[in-house]
Amino acid sequence: MLLIKNGRVIDPASNTDTVQDVLIEDSHISRIGTGLSAGSAEILDAAGLIVAPGFIDLHCHLREPGQELSETIETGTRSAARGGFAAVCCMPNTVPVNDNASVTRAIVERAAAKGSVRVWPIGAASAGSKGEALAEIAAMKAAGIVAVSDDGKPVATARLMRQVMEYCNSLGLLVIDHCEDPSLFAGGVMREGKQSVKLGLKGIPSQSESICVGRDVEVAALTGARLHIAHMSARASLEYVRAAKKQGLRVTCEVTPHHFTLIDEDVRYDSHYKMNPPLASREDREALIEGLADGSVDAIATDHAPHHPASKDVEFDRAPFGITGFETALALGLSELVQPGRLSLNRLVELFTIGPARVLGIERKIEAGQPADITVFSIDHPWTFRSKDSPSKSRNSPFNGRAFRGAPAATIVAGRIVYKQ
Ligand SMILES: [Zn+2]
Ligand SMILES: [Zn+2]
Repeated sequence: MLLIKNGRVIDPASNTDTVQDVLIEDSHISRIGTGLSAGSAEILDAAGLIVAPGFIDLHCHLREPGQELSETIETGTRSAARGGFAAVCCMPNTVPVNDNASVTRAIVERAAAKGSVRVWPIGAASAGSKGEALAEIAAMKAAGIVAVSDDGKPVATARLMRQVMEYCNSLGLLVIDHCEDPSLFAGGVMREGKQSVKLGLKGIPSQSESICVGRDVEVAALTGARLHIAHMSARASLEYVRAAKKQGLRVTCEVTPHHFTLIDEDVRYDSHYKMNPPLASREDREALIEGLADGSVDAIATDHAPHHPASKDVEFDRAPFGITGFETALALGLSELVQPGRLSLNRLVELFTIGPARVLGIERKIEAGQPADITVFSIDHPWTFRSKDSPSKSRNSPFNGRAFRGAPAATIVAGRIVYKQ
């Protein structure tokens, strides 16, 4: 038994925000109330801390199988636990690609044996994510995938997207798209604009993303499928999502911490500023923050994309896209959104908990009988992120050395403390 004492329980599902105790027996929550005691229970003193449902990350790369130099399920989920995440959805662009049930099963088994947190695999939409034939979606669903995506690339054509959506619709599966128009992307390495000209780096216009979001929304209207836009970075993309929601389409989206924190003007000749989609304009960031506040954006997702130091430590043009993200996500949300007064604390908690849960079509709440996935965090603890201290195998974060107020204090998965500060 585990008794979390005197924490400020924020449970968006029931609109709760009060100081209470939470008692956990085995893997489930058994009681919530004040002045609870349980003789033999381990006590977690949460006085002055927030007690929230376990955070869910809809988008990460754990690199296993095939790229274990950069990350493994074991190291990635330890980093996730440290970031307050109780469950993470891992993208299928592993080696081999997770496009069939045997790879899905291998990931699920590895996660059960070595994972600190729950791992929910995402299967490829097309075989090998090559954009030609459908992947073995039904068999992967039976093996445990929670969505499909060809992340790293967009689903290649509208026609293939229609097939993927129609098929996923019949299975009740979510389709996630990495939106980009390859003809506009065309070898770019950062957002096109004044800064790309100044640095002499090849730019990618925001329309590369928004044209594809527009296409996907149209195909979602045609098929009625559940569509989720990954790592949305541009204002025009958000407008498509808003319009889709207004029409009653089942369209959702996520924003990463780096896109609500940094902009193209921050980019320098340092591959820790190279990610896809690239850091956007100031106006785009402003629009994303408005969307996070007004409910148009459904979730904050990290797109944790570890790359071994040797692969990132090359010229900007040659470096792979992506940065790590688990351990700075909450702190960036607090420092960029809540502390400046752009978002309420409750809304931030929503974006890490019931927001992503709803995208997946599941529940997440603090209530007797529910699985005991809980994130305990501080909103004022001062600390500095040092990528060298991370359990991740990779160090590719632009936030190395950044000082924050607020951090996860404990992460509990199925009643077990998997991280404690
Ligand atoms: Zn992507
Ligand atoms: Zn990704």
